[in-house]
Amino acid sequence: MSKYIYMDNAATTPVKEEVLEAMLPYFTEKYGNPSSVYSLGSESKVAVEKAREQVAKALGADKKEIFFTASGSESDNWAIKGIAYNRRNKGNHIITSKIEHHAVLNTCKYLEKQGFEVTYLNVDSDGVVDLEELKNSIKDTTILITIMFANNEIGTIQPIKEIGQIAKENDIVFHTDAVQAVGSVEIDVKDLNVDLLSLSAHKFHGPKGIGVLYVRQGVRLDNLIHGGGQERSKRAGTENVASIVGLGKAIELATGNLEEKNKKLSALRDSLIEKIESKIDYVKLNGHRTKRLPGNVNVSFQFIEGESLLLMLDMNKIAGSSGSACTSGALDPSHVLLAIGLDHETAHGSLRLSLSEFNTEEEIDFVVEKLVGIVDRLRQMSPLYEKIKGEK
Ligand SMILES: *Cc1c(COP(=O)(O)O)cnc(C)c1O
Repeated sequence: MSKYIYMDNAATTPVKEEVLEAMLPYFTEKYGNPSSVYSLGSESKVAVEKAREQVAKALGADKKEIFFTASGSESDNWAIKGIAYNRRNKGNHIITSKIEHHAVLNTCKYLEKQGFEVTYLNVDSDGVVDLEELKNSIKDTTILITIMFANNEIGTIQPIKEIGQIAKENDIVFHTDAVQAVGSVEIDVKDLNVDLLSLSAHKFHGPKGIGVLYVRQGVRLDNLIHGGGQERSKRAGTENVASIVGLGKAIELATGNLEEKNKKLSALRDSLIEKIESKIDYVKLNGHRTKRLPGNVNVSFQFIEGESLLLMLDMNKIAGSSGSACTSGALDPSHVLLAIGLDHETAHGSLRLSLSEFNTEEEIDFVVEKLVGIVDRLRQMSPLYEKIKGEK
């Protein structure tokens, strides 16, 4: 096997051929500005509105509720800051969880410095938020609940409909970062009582640098980007027409045959988990075993450094990701893995393999075979492992 085995689809995905094809004309012959009155411009406008329709359809939303942004991060920033500033006179309290993406966590931290109060909910050992703790955290001053749909590291899916119900009953705006969920989980914003939802094209085989914020009709939020009248004067900047077209095509493809795709993908995921658990000892699955993204596998190997594991996988042309983030030159264990109760060593020994519809059972077998050898070799270098083996 000589080609690259890509199992880091939670980080980003390749653009599908059909998506690229749909985009290409908008760089060259169809370059008009959607705001221009001549036909070259209106052609671009029509393309943008078609993509808006495709997104609305995928989410069970109305066209008027779809706003294009430049990333999932921007959508998260806009949702949280936009509600915080708009509802400042109603209260200053925001509820989120400890396992959010940094686009949410760092936005909340920024708002704390400006006088907002933030509650960071705990999660259980599977990574699920506790609905009772959520209810008990609500105050008269609570203006926003922001809880991610599915976690990017451990794949755990939250009880979004129940959270939406609690928010609705208490007249609190509910935002969900659904960047990992769109194209992987069935989503109907009306059914789920979601007020605001973030998504990003590059996580479902669309281009990088283009996202959406869904804003339920009637929900008021302040602008994040001020300027011209684009996006019904809610988000300024000349539309990224080619990327918007790509996002529209990608979301249509990703949500079109979701059930069938997920059946295959989750079978592949479970096969990978089963093979790792049966062939390697001192291993632990992170995240909920069933309430998890169909493509997510996250495991911790005792007595091993995730970074070394990644490097050795890379030498075998296998791409994955570890449970550590390099911040200011040092390796910090993931805040998500710590929140589900892992100690620092175990968190450092973790590996995320995130699959897509392009992965195969053959690749799974190849990866498991390599993994068995690499884990064994790395453990040979661990004095602690030698000691425990000696005692056995
Ligand atoms: C990737 C990701 C983001 C950020 O999206 P970008 O488009 O890369 O800015 C936000 N939240 C989650 C859960 C993600 O996985």
